[in-house]
Amino acid sequence: MEFLRKIFCFPFTKTLSKNKNIIEKNNKDEIVNEINLVNSDDDTNNSENLNNKDNDLDVYEHLILNQKYGLCPECNQPNTYCDWCKECCSKKFQQNFGNWTSGNDHIDKFIQESQLNARNSLELLEWIPYNRLRNIEFLAQGGFSTIYKALWLDGQIYKWNYEKQDWKRFENEFDEQDYKDAINPKIKNPLKDNEKYGLP
Ligand SMILES: [Zn+2]
Repeated sequence: MEFLRKIFCFPFTKTLSKNKNIIEKNNKDEIVNEINLVNSDDDTNNSENLNNKDNDLDVYEHLILNQKYGLCPECNQPNTYCDWCKECCSKKFQQNFGNWTSGNDHIDKFIQESQLNARNSLELLEWIPYNRLRNIEFLAQGGFSTIYKALWLDGQIYKWNYEKQDWKRFENEFDEQDYKDAINPKIKNPLKDNEKYGLP
């Protein structure tokens, strides 16, 4: 499934555009511990990958090198996905680092790393400010976190818009059920009547 997602550009657009995003609200210390665990796992994987370097060029990397996604109009290097150049997108994200923060340095670094290394929009994390979420609803509680689901006004980035020099995002038109949900007393930050899409 992961492989298919990487090869085809938009077969999964529909699923993503529904945009009932699950937001995890963790205790800060627990998040930091999880990040440390992820990092230590990466170290192990990296050393294994180095040993297998010659035959570890996966199918996705081959597709990039064979210009399956064409060339970047800005740097003329192979795109790493449809309308996505890792190097150029990385610079655009970096220029925006000063414009958002989670309030926690560890989490900021974790998200920034994903933005610097993303070969496509699926490898990307974004920080969503609370005021861009609507219909926040408790979903489940586990050993490490409480999980909520919510509507995200802006929608997920999927490519760079060269004309407007800004990110293109999935536009989500909210449906009747979303407005019905908004009057549920258990819902926090309800969706307002005038909100059909994310506001600029
Ligand atoms: Zn480029």
